[in-house]
Amino acid sequence: MKKFLIIFLFLIVFIAFSNFIPPVDDSYITSSFLEFRSTGDTPHFHGGVDFSTFLKEGIPIKAVYEGNLSRIEINDEIYGNVVVIQHPNGYKSLYAHLSMFPKKIQSIVDDLISEFGNNKIEVNFPENEISFSQGEIVGYSGKTGEAIKPHIHIEIRNSNETMLFDPLNFINAEPLNGEIVIKEIVIDGKKFDFVEGQTYEFQNNFPHIAINAFLQVNKNIIGLKELKLYFSNKLVYHIMFDELPIEEMNKPFTVYTDDSIAAGYIYKAYYKLYPETIGYSVKQNNFPTFNQNLDFFPVSIELIDFWNRKEIFNFNLKRGN
Ligand SMILES: [Zn+2]
Repeated sequence: MKKFLIIFLFLIVFIAFSNFIPPVDDSYITSSFLEFRSTGDTPHFHGGVDFSTFLKEGIPIKAVYEGNLSRIEINDEIYGNVVVIQHPNGYKSLYAHLSMFPKKIQSIVDDLISEFGNNKIEVNFPENEISFSQGEIVGYSGKTGEAIKPHIHIEIRNSNETMLFDPLNFINAEPLNGEIVIKEIVIDGKKFDFVEGQTYEFQNNFPHIAINAFLQVNKNIIGLKELKLYFSNKLVYHIMFDELPIEEMNKPFTVYTDDSIAAGYIYKAYYKLYPETIGYSVKQNNFPTFNQNLDFFPVSIELIDFWNRKEIFNFNLKRGN
Protein backbone atom coordinates (compact mmCIF):
# COMPACT_ATOMS: atom_id res chain seq x y z
CA MET A 1 0.00 0.00 0.00
CA LYS A 2 2.77 2.37 1.05
CA LYS A 3 4.63 1.57 -2.15
CA PHE A 4 1.63 2.54 -4.27
CA LEU A 5 1.24 5.76 -2.34
CA ILE A 6 4.89 6.63 -3.03
CA ILE A 7 4.48 5.85 -6.74
CA PHE A 8 1.29 7.93 -6.79
CA LEU A 9 3.01 10.89 -5.09
CA PHE A 10 5.96 10.55 -7.45
CA LEU A 11 3.57 10.69 -10.42
CA ILE A 12 1.90 13.84 -9.10
CA VAL A 13 5.29 15.51 -8.59
CA PHE A 14 6.45 14.37 -12.02
CA ILE A 15 3.31 15.68 -13.71
CA ALA A 16 3.62 19.01 -11.86
CA PHE A 17 7.24 19.35 -12.99
CA SER A 18 6.73 18.33 -16.57
CA ASN A 19 3.95 20.91 -16.95
CA PHE A 20 6.52 23.67 -17.24
CA ILE A 21 6.86 24.94 -20.82
CA PRO A 22 9.97 26.53 -22.41
CA PRO A 23 10.06 30.35 -22.14
CA VAL A 24 10.63 30.79 -25.89
CA ASP A 25 8.97 28.96 -28.79
CA ASP A 26 11.15 26.66 -30.95
CA SER A 27 14.24 27.56 -28.94
CA TYR A 28 17.25 25.64 -27.65
CA ILE A 29 19.58 26.08 -24.72
CA THR A 30 22.91 27.87 -25.10
CA SER A 31 24.30 27.60 -21.53
CA SER A 32 23.73 25.05 -18.82
CA PHE A 33 23.13 25.06 -15.07
CA LEU A 34 26.12 25.89 -12.82
CA GLU A 35 28.60 26.67 -15.57
CA PHE A 36 31.48 28.88 -14.42
CA ARG A 37 31.15 32.66 -14.81
CA SER A 38 33.80 35.32 -14.17
CA THR A 39 31.72 38.37 -15.07
CA GLY A 40 30.62 40.95 -12.50
CA ASP A 41 32.27 41.63 -9.13
CA THR A 42 33.17 38.08 -8.21
CA PRO A 43 33.35 34.73 -10.02
CA HIS A 44 30.13 32.76 -9.64
CA PHE A 45 28.09 29.83 -10.84
CA HIS A 46 25.61 30.28 -13.70
CA GLY A 47 22.42 29.89 -11.68
CA GLY A 48 20.10 28.84 -14.49
CA VAL A 49 19.96 27.97 -18.16
CA ASP A 50 20.01 30.26 -21.18
CA PHE A 51 17.54 29.85 -24.01
CA SER A 52 18.33 31.33 -27.41
CA THR A 53 16.19 34.22 -28.64
CA PHE A 54 17.95 33.93 -32.02
CA LEU A 55 20.18 36.91 -31.05
CA LYS A 56 17.13 39.17 -31.05
CA GLU A 57 15.88 41.67 -28.53
CA GLY A 58 12.15 42.02 -28.04
CA ILE A 59 11.23 38.34 -28.42
CA PRO A 60 8.25 37.57 -26.13
CA ILE A 61 9.24 35.54 -23.06
CA LYS A 62 6.53 33.29 -21.67
CA ALA A 63 5.66 32.26 -18.12
CA VAL A 64 6.76 28.62 -17.84
CA TYR A 65 3.81 27.96 -15.54
CA GLU A 66 0.92 29.92 -13.98
CA GLY A 67 1.59 32.01 -10.90
CA ASN A 68 1.73 35.40 -9.20
CA LEU A 69 4.22 38.19 -9.76
CA SER A 70 6.60 37.99 -6.82
CA ARG A 71 9.28 40.57 -7.65
CA ILE A 72 10.78 42.78 -10.31
CA GLU A 73 14.36 44.01 -10.44
CA ILE A 74 15.59 46.84 -12.63
CA ASN A 75 19.27 47.45 -13.54
CA ASP A 76 20.87 44.61 -11.59
CA GLU A 77 24.58 44.41 -12.48
CA ILE A 78 24.45 40.70 -13.37
CA TYR A 79 20.77 39.93 -14.07
CA GLY A 80 19.73 43.24 -15.62
CA ASN A 81 15.93 43.56 -15.69
CA VAL A 82 14.23 40.67 -13.93
CA VAL A 83 10.76 39.22 -13.38
CA VAL A 84 10.17 36.57 -10.68
CA ILE A 85 6.96 34.54 -10.56
CA GLN A 86 5.73 32.42 -7.64
CA HIS A 87 4.03 29.24 -8.83
CA PRO A 88 1.35 27.35 -6.86
CA ASN A 89 3.53 24.19 -6.82
CA GLY A 90 6.03 25.86 -4.47
CA TYR A 91 8.65 26.94 -7.01
CA LYS A 92 9.60 30.32 -8.39
CA SER A 93 10.80 31.07 -11.91
CA LEU A 94 13.13 33.99 -12.59
CA TYR A 95 13.57 35.63 -16.03
CA ALA A 96 16.65 37.83 -16.56
CA HIS A 97 18.30 40.25 -19.03
CA LEU A 98 14.88 41.51 -20.18
CA SER A 99 14.79 44.54 -22.47
CA MET A 100 11.18 45.36 -21.57
CA PHE A 101 8.54 44.36 -19.07
CA PRO A 102 5.04 43.23 -20.08
CA LYS A 103 2.36 45.90 -20.59
CA LYS A 104 0.68 45.19 -17.25
CA ILE A 105 3.88 45.98 -15.32
CA GLN A 106 5.47 48.60 -17.60
CA SER A 107 3.57 51.58 -16.08
CA ILE A 108 4.79 50.60 -12.58
CA VAL A 109 8.33 50.31 -13.99
CA ASP A 110 8.08 53.74 -15.69
CA ASP A 111 7.03 55.32 -12.37
CA LEU A 112 9.94 53.64 -10.54
CA ILE A 113 12.49 54.77 -13.13
CA SER A 114 11.24 58.36 -13.05
CA GLU A 115 11.65 58.29 -9.25
CA PHE A 116 14.93 56.36 -8.87
CA GLY A 117 16.66 56.84 -12.24
CA ASN A 118 19.25 54.28 -13.30
CA ASN A 119 19.90 52.90 -9.82
CA LYS A 120 19.20 49.28 -9.05
CA ILE A 121 15.54 48.94 -8.07
CA GLU A 122 13.92 45.89 -6.48
CA VAL A 123 10.20 45.69 -5.71
CA ASN A 124 8.33 42.83 -4.05
CA PHE A 125 4.65 42.37 -4.81
CA PRO A 126 1.96 41.14 -2.43
CA GLU A 127 0.54 37.73 -3.25
CA ASN A 128 -2.45 37.71 -5.62
CA GLU A 129 -1.90 41.28 -6.84
CA ILE A 130 -0.72 40.51 -10.37
CA SER A 131 -1.14 37.03 -11.79
CA PHE A 132 0.17 35.33 -14.90
CA SER A 133 -1.29 32.39 -16.74
CA GLN A 134 1.00 29.76 -18.22
CA GLY A 135 2.42 31.01 -21.52
CA GLU A 136 1.53 34.66 -20.81
CA ILE A 137 4.23 37.19 -21.72
CA VAL A 138 6.40 38.07 -18.67
CA GLY A 139 8.79 40.32 -20.59
CA TYR A 140 10.82 40.70 -23.77
CA SER A 141 14.30 39.36 -24.49
CA GLY A 142 17.28 41.66 -24.12
CA LYS A 143 20.87 41.88 -22.95
CA THR A 144 20.60 43.94 -19.75
CA GLY A 145 23.04 43.10 -16.93
CA GLU A 146 26.02 40.89 -17.75
CA ALA A 147 24.58 39.52 -21.04
CA ILE A 148 26.65 40.34 -24.13
CA LYS A 149 24.04 39.23 -26.65
CA PRO A 150 20.26 38.99 -26.32
CA HIS A 151 18.95 35.74 -24.81
CA ILE A 152 16.73 34.69 -21.94
CA HIS A 153 18.24 33.44 -18.68
CA ILE A 154 15.81 31.43 -16.58
CA GLU A 155 16.18 30.09 -13.03
CA ILE A 156 14.01 27.84 -10.90
CA ARG A 157 14.16 28.51 -7.15
CA ASN A 158 12.28 27.37 -4.06
CA SER A 159 9.78 29.84 -2.55
CA ASN A 160 12.12 31.31 0.06
CA GLU A 161 14.91 31.49 -2.56
CA THR A 162 17.51 29.50 -0.67
CA MET A 163 17.97 26.88 -3.42
CA LEU A 164 18.53 26.86 -7.18
CA PHE A 165 17.40 23.89 -9.25
CA ASP A 166 18.39 22.71 -12.71
CA PRO A 167 15.60 24.20 -14.87
CA LEU A 168 15.92 21.28 -17.28
CA ASN A 169 14.48 19.06 -14.55
CA PHE A 170 11.27 21.10 -14.97
CA ILE A 171 11.28 22.32 -18.56
CA ASN A 172 11.32 19.89 -21.41
CA ALA A 173 14.12 21.17 -23.66
CA GLU A 174 15.15 19.39 -26.86
CA PRO A 175 18.48 17.55 -26.46
CA LEU A 176 21.31 19.35 -28.25
CA ASN A 177 23.21 17.39 -30.89
CA GLY A 178 26.78 17.40 -29.74
CA GLU A 179 29.81 15.53 -28.59
CA ILE A 180 31.15 15.16 -25.03
CA VAL A 181 34.83 16.12 -25.15
CA ILE A 182 37.84 16.24 -22.83
CA LYS A 183 40.08 18.79 -24.50
CA GLU A 184 42.78 19.22 -21.89
CA ILE A 185 43.83 17.39 -18.77
CA VAL A 186 45.75 19.02 -15.94
CA ILE A 187 47.79 16.81 -13.61
CA ASP A 188 49.36 18.49 -10.59
CA GLY A 189 49.07 21.85 -12.36
CA LYS A 190 50.64 20.73 -15.68
CA LYS A 191 48.38 20.97 -18.75
CA PHE A 192 48.32 18.35 -21.53
CA ASP A 193 46.09 17.75 -24.55
CA PHE A 194 43.97 14.79 -23.50
CA VAL A 195 44.89 11.55 -25.29
CA GLU A 196 42.79 8.44 -24.70
CA GLY A 197 44.85 5.53 -23.32
CA GLN A 198 47.85 7.73 -22.48
CA THR A 199 49.92 7.32 -19.30
CA TYR A 200 50.36 10.54 -17.33
CA GLU A 201 52.66 11.09 -14.33
CA PHE A 202 51.64 12.48 -10.97
CA GLN A 203 53.83 13.65 -8.10
CA ASN A 204 51.84 14.40 -4.96
CA ASN A 205 50.45 12.08 -2.30
CA PHE A 206 47.41 11.76 -4.49
CA PRO A 207 46.88 12.95 -8.10
CA HIS A 208 45.35 16.40 -8.59
CA ILE A 209 43.41 16.03 -11.84
CA ALA A 210 41.48 18.80 -13.56
CA ILE A 211 39.86 18.66 -16.99
CA ASN A 212 38.66 21.13 -19.58
CA ALA A 213 35.62 19.16 -20.73
CA PHE A 214 32.25 20.07 -22.24
CA LEU A 215 29.45 19.20 -24.59
CA GLN A 216 30.54 20.59 -27.96
CA VAL A 217 27.54 21.80 -29.98
CA ASN A 218 28.79 23.27 -33.26
CA LYS A 219 30.88 26.24 -32.05
CA ASN A 220 29.09 26.46 -28.73
CA ILE A 221 30.32 24.92 -25.50
CA ILE A 222 27.85 23.62 -22.91
CA GLY A 223 28.75 22.60 -19.36
CA LEU A 224 28.29 19.04 -18.13
CA LYS A 225 25.87 17.70 -15.53
CA GLU A 226 27.92 14.96 -13.88
CA LEU A 227 31.58 13.98 -13.63
CA LYS A 228 32.73 10.73 -12.07
CA LEU A 229 36.36 9.80 -11.49
CA TYR A 230 37.37 6.16 -11.04
CA PHE A 231 40.75 4.76 -9.97
CA SER A 232 41.08 1.01 -10.78
CA ASN A 233 37.31 0.95 -11.45
CA LYS A 234 36.50 2.35 -7.99
CA LEU A 235 34.58 5.63 -7.75
CA VAL A 236 36.75 8.19 -5.97
CA TYR A 237 35.11 11.52 -6.83
CA HIS A 238 31.68 12.55 -8.03
CA ILE A 239 30.44 16.01 -9.02
CA MET A 240 26.79 16.62 -9.93
CA PHE A 241 25.08 19.88 -10.89
CA ASP A 242 21.46 19.20 -9.95
CA GLU A 243 20.78 21.95 -7.39
CA LEU A 244 22.70 24.49 -5.33
CA PRO A 245 22.11 26.50 -2.14
CA ILE A 246 22.08 30.15 -3.24
CA GLU A 247 24.63 30.94 -0.50
CA GLU A 248 27.15 28.89 -2.57
CA MET A 249 26.58 30.95 -5.75
CA ASN A 250 29.89 32.76 -5.27
CA LYS A 251 31.92 29.63 -4.48
CA PRO A 252 32.64 28.25 -7.96
CA PHE A 253 36.19 27.26 -7.00
CA THR A 254 34.82 24.29 -5.09
CA VAL A 255 34.52 22.59 -8.51
CA TYR A 256 36.42 24.81 -10.99
CA THR A 257 40.13 25.67 -10.94
CA ASP A 258 41.01 29.32 -10.40
CA ASP A 259 42.44 29.73 -13.93
CA SER A 260 38.99 29.06 -15.43
CA ILE A 261 37.69 31.91 -17.58
CA ALA A 262 34.10 32.61 -18.60
CA ALA A 263 33.42 36.17 -19.63
CA GLY A 264 32.15 37.57 -22.88
CA TYR A 265 32.76 35.14 -25.73
CA ILE A 266 35.43 33.13 -23.90
CA TYR A 267 34.49 29.96 -22.03
CA LYS A 268 37.31 27.82 -20.72
CA ALA A 269 36.50 26.11 -17.45
CA TYR A 270 38.47 23.35 -15.75
CA TYR A 271 36.55 20.93 -13.54
CA LYS A 272 38.54 20.09 -10.43
CA LEU A 273 38.44 16.35 -9.78
CA TYR A 274 40.05 16.48 -6.34
CA PRO A 275 39.10 17.96 -2.98
CA GLU A 276 40.35 21.33 -1.77
CA THR A 277 37.29 23.06 -0.43
CA ILE A 278 34.28 20.79 -0.74
CA GLY A 279 31.11 22.38 -2.08
CA TYR A 280 27.51 21.20 -2.44
CA SER A 281 28.10 19.86 -5.97
CA VAL A 282 30.72 17.38 -4.76
CA LYS A 283 28.54 14.37 -4.00
CA GLN A 284 31.27 11.87 -3.19
CA ASN A 285 34.90 12.18 -2.11
CA ASN A 286 36.78 8.96 -1.44
CA PHE A 287 40.24 10.55 -1.64
CA PRO A 288 40.74 10.14 2.14
CA THR A 289 40.87 6.36 1.51
CA PHE A 290 43.30 6.68 -1.43
CA ASN A 291 46.08 4.09 -1.16
CA GLN A 292 49.23 6.19 -1.23
CA ASN A 293 51.37 3.17 -2.13
CA LEU A 294 49.73 2.89 -5.56
CA ASP A 295 52.33 3.63 -8.25
CA PHE A 296 50.46 2.73 -11.43
CA PHE A 297 46.72 2.39 -12.00
CA PRO A 298 44.03 2.78 -14.65
CA VAL A 299 41.79 5.85 -14.47
CA SER A 300 38.35 6.37 -15.98
CA ILE A 301 36.39 9.59 -16.18
CA GLU A 302 32.67 9.30 -16.84
CA LEU A 303 31.02 12.46 -18.16
CA ILE A 304 27.25 12.89 -18.34
CA ASP A 305 25.41 15.75 -20.06
CA PHE A 306 22.08 17.34 -19.09
CA TRP A 307 20.18 14.82 -21.23
CA ASN A 308 21.88 11.92 -19.39
CA ARG A 309 24.09 10.96 -22.32
CA LYS A 310 27.31 9.39 -21.10
CA GLU A 311 30.87 9.20 -22.37
CA ILE A 312 33.76 7.32 -20.71
CA PHE A 313 37.43 8.29 -21.09
CA ASN A 314 40.33 6.08 -20.03
CA PHE A 315 44.02 6.66 -19.27
CA ASN A 316 46.69 5.57 -16.78
CA LEU A 317 48.44 7.31 -13.92
CA LYS A 318 51.99 6.58 -12.88
CA ARG A 319 53.76 7.96 -9.82
CA GLY A 320 56.77 10.06 -10.88
CA ASN A 321 59.96 10.49 -8.91
ZN1 LIG B 1 22.34 32.88 -18.14
